[in-house]
Amino acid sequence: MSKHEPVLLKNMLQPGYTGCLQDYERTGGYQALRKVLGKVPPTEVTATVMKSGLRGRGGAGFPTGVKWGFLPKDYRGPRYLCCNADESEPGTFKDRQLIERDPHQILEGIVLACYAIGAESSYIYIRGEFVLGARILEQAIAEARTAGYIGANILNTGITANVWVHRGAGAYICGEETALLESLEGKRGLPRVKPPFPATHGLYNKPTVVNNVETLANLPHIINRGPEWFASIGSPPKSTGTRIFCVSGHVKRSGNYEVPMGITFRELIYEHAGGMRSDKPLKAFIPGGASAPFLTPDHLDVKLDFESVAAAGSMLGSGGVTVMEEGTDMVWAALRLMEFFYHESCGKCTPCREGSSWLVQTMRRIVAKRGRMEDLETLVDLCKNIAGRTVCAFGDAEVAPIMSTLKHWKPEYVTLIHEAQAANLLHPKRIMARP
Ligand code: SF4
Repeated sequence: MSKHEPVLLKNMLQPGYTGCLQDYERTGGYQALRKVLGKVPPTEVTATVMKSGLRGRGGAGFPTGVKWGFLPKDYRGPRYLCCNADESEPGTFKDRQLIERDPHQILEGIVLACYAIGAESSYIYIRGEFVLGARILEQAIAEARTAGYIGANILNTGITANVWVHRGAGAYICGEETALLESLEGKRGLPRVKPPFPATHGLYNKPTVVNNVETLANLPHIINRGPEWFASIGSPPKSTGTRIFCVSGHVKRSGNYEVPMGITFRELIYEHAGGMRSDKPLKAFIPGGASAPFLTPDHLDVKLDFESVAAAGSMLGSGGVTVMEEGTDMVWAALRLMEFFYHESCGKCTPCREGSSWLVQTMRRIVAKRGRMEDLETLVDLCKNIAGRTVCAFGDAEVAPIMSTLKHWKPEYVTLIHEAQAANLLHPKRIMARP
């Protein structure tokens, strides 16, 4: 097993660490703020983050410093930072742990990002179900404000950065950055058509950066230990640093594991997570949350970095690795995921709104052993007419479970349909009952 000192989970792994301000300060917390605020120009902070190679940990993996650099330099009005804490991707639970166990690490990252982009107001958009996390964040903000790390005139530097917590109402789509902004503005959380992008027309139509919780939590460490240190970890030059992977499903030790980018799935599943729970062989795994296409045991030696997983036909996404053992019904698994996406489609665009309904109906029919061979063509046709034709990336995500299970486990679909045909031969009237 690769040995690497945890970075983001380090504090909370210490016995007795509560995440309060005193504990965080005792471990060197808020030193990055003291180091840069009013002493290092904001452009240099952005350059440091660019040099570190930090990429977004929410799903898309866009380089963080580059994203900050898109904000208009000559714009004199307000600009905003939004921390995306709407962690709703099935199989993903890392941000929740960071929020509940070490909230000041995130707050320090938020103030550093505000300083770099020139924002005086920032919002933590937190998933509605994270009641405890929202309460912990509120408490941590109050502590940091009293200590002079948040608010006006931070550490007597004349710099202002306010942080507000905003709770979502439980819609998965509000994790999409423009839907998040709409929701934050008090409107229904529907994704916006892009361009324009949030960098120029974001919250209240002002320049805005939206960064994920884990992304922001990395910032104090990059400032304290230098971009070269961060860039030397993982799989440079494009996948640097550590990453928290959430392993769940049929493993012995499910949980969050912070590892350098670039270890293999085999190491993550069999060494960190203890291997398969009942010693049955692995059948399938989702490498990056429910939106990522399934992979097979043939992909166990693929590296956990952005490029390698993409080359294997999937994506690193949110870092949620869901493991399935031999014996799992893959058609049923794809249907369960499809039902989730059908439920969460915001309904703004036709291919997704109507297509998800048709996909679910067709999948339910196949699983209920009432399918026909033509249903497989219908599924592929529907998926092709959704992917790439929607307002947001949700369309691509919702077809991933079906397309990837059809690619790797098509015989399971065919078996169900053959069973349906056999049943129909025995009971011809069932054909009439088919919806
Ligand atoms: Fe809404 Fe789906 Fe269209 Fe995204 S793809 S805007 S979730 S209907």
